[in-house]
Amino acid sequence: MGKLDKKEISLYIHIPFCIRKCNYCDFLSFSDCPMEAQKAYMDKLMQEIEGYSGIAEEYQAVSVFLGGGTPSCLPEGWIEQLFHKLYSVWTVKQGAEITIECNPGTLTYRKLAEYRTCGINRLSLGLQSGNAEELKRLGRIHNYEQFVANYLLAREAGFQNINVDIMLGLPGQSQSTYGKTLARVLELKPEHISAYSLSIEAGTPFAEDKTIMEQLPSEQAERNMYHYTRRLLNSLGYEQYEISNFARKGYACLHNLGYWTGREYLGFGLGASSDWQGYRFENTRDMQEYLTERKETIPEALWRNRIPVTERNRMEEFMFLGLRLTDGVSDTEFIRRFHRSLEEVYGAVIRSYVDMGFLVWKNGNLRLEDRGIDVSNQILADFLLEPEEKTDGILM
Ligand code: SF4
Repeated sequence: MGKLDKKEISLYIHIPFCIRKCNYCDFLSFSDCPMEAQKAYMDKLMQEIEGYSGIAEEYQAVSVFLGGGTPSCLPEGWIEQLFHKLYSVWTVKQGAEITIECNPGTLTYRKLAEYRTCGINRLSLGLQSGNAEELKRLGRIHNYEQFVANYLLAREAGFQNINVDIMLGLPGQSQSTYGKTLARVLELKPEHISAYSLSIEAGTPFAEDKTIMEQLPSEQAERNMYHYTRRLLNSLGYEQYEISNFARKGYACLHNLGYWTGREYLGFGLGASSDWQGYRFENTRDMQEYLTERKETIPEALWRNRIPVTERNRMEEFMFLGLRLTDGVSDTEFIRRFHRSLEEVYGAVIRSYVDMGFLVWKNGNLRLEDRGIDVSNQILADFLLEPEEKTDGILM
């Protein structure tokens, strides 16, 4: 296969280590892993990447994302070693977006310089809140001043594409404290801002603490914060391209857009998910299993829950992810992929939501209206197709 024929893919690498577990976190990450175990994990991760040698030649990665956990808590030199392995197996397209998730308080200038040497060109910094009380309640390891210091260090190291994560709907958060967080972030002029609502996940300290539920802002208060975010960021030149994501022109996150528009992706590391060669699967979430798998059987032996992706799954996902994007879903693109129009598959649902003013057609694209965004979860749920609909022979 010639170089020009390579298929595009996105790669995700999971680093499941954190300094301390945040009170709301249900991500696959550990805060109590000794350094030797972390080293063993990184060795296994590199074996896994190497396990794709050969097949990797058919692809070129258009985005790479190091997520976690906290990839930036790894000691100096480890990320460089990882990238050395990655580049020896995978072709990464010139100019590809390469992101690393970092937490304030874990960065040094040397680490940042190392990331730049590896070709990493985008940082995603988890601030979550600019308010000391809120940060403490969340169990974050840093304060606002450490965030600013790390942000400025990243600029000094040459990073020109920085995302800042913030959260709304936090316990004890008010419109005023949220507004101050947003104002503080905006002073720094990051290229990208993600503003996600807190969700209380079972098994986390937040879920077990009744007083936390009592301190949550009302649904209406959270909605007001969200609409305030949209208005303010839009007025300052940030384009909202997805329900929770805002970017200056040209800085939308290509990796996430890849997920949202159905590009193939492979995940490496503990619990990492993949959508590859017509199958969805995830790696084992059991650290012991991950660490003890034999080199010769990797990567296949790590895969769990591997199932073929049906046309029905693809349609649902196209709607689910596409409707979260500000541009919405294109009827032309739907027909190109599935040989049926949106009207043919979803006519009744679409008509009812358009009549209610939650969805709107614009230039051949179907998208959420502002008031539809407020109830988007309910709307998106209605785009799940009944398995019985396969009787027409088109859906599988
Ligand atoms: S830093 Fe992120 S991954 Fe780590 S514990 Fe906190 S929320 Fe979870």
